[in-house]
Formats: sequence, C-alpha cells, structure tokens
Amino acid sequence: MKELVIISGKGGTGKTTITASFAALSENAVIADADVDASDLHLILHPSVRIDNQFFCGHEAEIRQVDCVGCGACLAHCRFEAVKMLGDNAGEAEFSIDASSCEGCGACVRLCPVKAIDFHERYCGEWYVSDTRFGPMVHAVLGAGAENSGKLVNIVRTNAKKVATETGRSLIITDGPPGIGCPVISSVTGADAVLAVAEPTLSGIHDLSRVIELARHFRIKMFVCVNKFDINPGLTEKIERLSEESGAFIAGRISYDREVTNAQNEGLSVIEHNKGVSVGEIKSIWGKISREF
Ligand code: SF4
Ligand code: SF4
Repeated sequence: MKELVIISGKGGTGKTTITASFAALSENAVIADADVDASDLHLILHPSVRIDNQFFCGHEAEIRQVDCVGCGACLAHCRFEAVKMLGDNAGEAEFSIDASSCEGCGACVRLCPVKAIDFHERYCGEWYVSDTRFGPMVHAVLGAGAENSGKLVNIVRTNAKKVATETGRSLIITDGPPGIGCPVISSVTGADAVLAVAEPTLSGIHDLSRVIELARHFRIKMFVCVNKFDINPGLTEKIERLSEESGAFIAGRISYDREVTNAQNEGLSVIEHNKGVSVGEIKSIWGKISREF
C-alpha cells in the first residue's frame, strides 16, 4: 500500500481540486481528507457517511456546584485564569470554570479538597468513514476553535490505511493541510510521496521553499506542480528550477482555466466536468506520478 499526500505552502492553491481529480482518475484508492481545519473535499466528492465517530482532545474541568464548598483553591491555582468567581450566594462565593479558557491541566481537579470538580473529555469534532462514487473516503471536521488537529489528521490517515487494508486497495490519496505546521507534519510523516502544488507568485516561491525543506527533512519523495502557471511563466520556470535543484520531480503545469471553477460550481471533479485545457494537464500529471511513484 502506498500513500500520496497533496500539500501546498498555503491554502487556495488548487490542492483539493487536484486531489478530487486524482480520486476520479485512480481505480483502486482510498481517499483521505486530512485538511481537517478547513475540509472541503466533501463539496466535490459528496460522501455518504457510513460510520460517524466523535473526536475528543484532552479534558476540561467543570465544578459541581452542589458539592463545592467555595474555598477558592481552584481560583488561586489556575494559571490560565479559567476559574471565575461569580459572586456571593448567601455570603458564600460561587465559582465556575470557563470551558473556552480551560487548558485541561487538571491542577484544580487534584487540589479541590472536596473533589467537586469533574474532568470530562473535551469534544473537538468528528471523523467519518464514507462511500463516494470513487471509492471509500475517510474525512473529519474539527470543531470551531478546537485544537489538536495534528491528532485528528493522524486518526484520519490511520483509518484510511485500515480501510485500504480491509477493502484490498493499494493506494491512499490524501488531501493534506496547507502550510508547514503540526497538521502538515502529521499528514506527511510516513507517506511515500508528496505532491506540492505551487502558484507562480513571489509568496508562492517562498511557501514552496518551506514545503521542500519539510519534505527533505522527512526524506519523502516529492513531486511539484505549478497551478495557473500561465499567469507568470517566468516565475513558473523559477519554481521548477528551485524544485529540481532541491531534488524534487517536476510533475507538470496546470493552466489558469475557468472550467475549474465551473466544475466546482457543479460539484464535480475537473475530470468528470471534462471541459477545458486543465483536464489533459491534470491527467498528464497523474500519469507521471503514477509511473514514477
Ligand atoms: S483544569 Fe487547569 S486550566 Fe482548567 S480550570 Fe482547572 S486548573 Fe484551570
Ligand atoms: S477548589 Fe473545589 S471546593 Fe474549592 S472553590 Fe474550587 S471547586 Fe469549590
């Protein structure tokens, strides 16, 4: 089993468009959406959820008012100012914990003299195993403001491998998060290859350099493609030179093509929409990666 992760230095470079097209072109793949902070592959693949799982990340403290004796120890020891004094009730102070400020360190739970603080698992989102017209898909939604997306990325990838094993599929195509932070590291660690999608802008070059460094650090085979290459052919050449000098393989170029947006508006992959110059270009990139992967 092999895994190809599609990444980019920043969001909005066409990463998900390419992932959806690869899903349409592949014949025996599991699709994983590891861009859990801003997942949108489902808008094209329209997954039908088969298994729905809750994702918990860490803990949060909650005072049981009925058992609290108002000693204030939790307020005194919380370093994150999550404990609030609500005021007096018949001469006794009342305390409560602001869940959004609680870091789940557990100090108050240990220090409460009457054990009046519960320590729940924190609900942070959901992850799913679904069916799509191109095969099984594992994807997730991280709750608003929830952290630990690296852990959720890991859950998505682990379960994509499990589904691939169960269904006898030999390839996992993963839509990775943008950037080079924790979620991206979590999405490329142990992958067989990455495809970095770059745009021919100055910031695109900067973003790509960071992604190249990341792939080199983890010794992962890297392909690069330039999306909307014709908006600046000079910078496209510069990106391709930089990539080759860094040991990456040039997978190809994709033109600026209004049909890509039309495909998205219709909820289709570019391959299914089958209009515009980008169809052949994406097929060529997929062919090259399939041969050299
Ligand atoms: S668990 Fe830690 S962060 Fe949360 S309220 Fe208690 S002491 Fe504060
Ligand atoms: S430490 Fe326990 S008893 Fe004291 S104020 Fe906090 S919750 Fe109430």
